[in-house]
Amino acid sequence: MKDLRSEIIDCALAMSREGLCVNKSGNVSMRAQVNGIEGFWITPTGVSYEALKPADIVFVHLTDEARFESENGRLPSSESLMHAEVYRQKQDARAIVHTHSTYATALACCDMPIPAFHYMVAAAGGTQIPCAPYALFGTKALAESAIKTLGNLKACLLSHHGVLAIGNDAQSALALAREVESLAKTYSVVRALGCGTVLNESQMAEVLERFKTYGQQK
Ligand SMILES: [Zn+2]
Repeated sequence: MKDLRSEIIDCALAMSREGLCVNKSGNVSMRAQVNGIEGFWITPTGVSYEALKPADIVFVHLTDEARFESENGRLPSSESLMHAEVYRQKQDARAIVHTHSTYATALACCDMPIPAFHYMVAAAGGTQIPCAPYALFGTKALAESAIKTLGNLKACLLSHHGVLAIGNDAQSALALAREVESLAKTYSVVRALGCGTVLNESQMAEVLERFKTYGQQK
């Protein structure tokens, strides 16, 4: 089985390659158990994704996010508090990807959720992709805002900040973050065209039902 730390690095490199994260913005984590301790592996702060080695990835304890370790003595991402809170509150979350991808962040800067203008909005598990109210980066307040907004969903926007996406593994969390960015880009064009129609509740219920049966096949 591939080391979870290598999976995180592969995911971070893909994020960077695809332009979802400029400079060192964004982060990736995966839930894990190390020596019987519940926690998660997360990308460190201040290291470019291209330079990452497994020894740089930081293990953060879930019972107390102030406790962490990495072979290279790195510090966890500044958003590790938000990751910790998601893992504590959402048992189904196995991996988290956070980006500042351009179009999704632009909508978040307008405090605009992504409505059901396209059926793929259901990829996040609901009839819209909401935007969590603003709170300072790296704070408990941001973690709480994100959790409250997510509810049972797998993705949300973070006001004046970026995107949070959850998955069963790093690749599925990345796929969702990529989908959110793609939807945000299309929605920005739809808005520019001046058309505002959205799918209704029953149409979206149909899509959500189909996604359940077919494992989110497009
Ligand atoms: Zn961020």
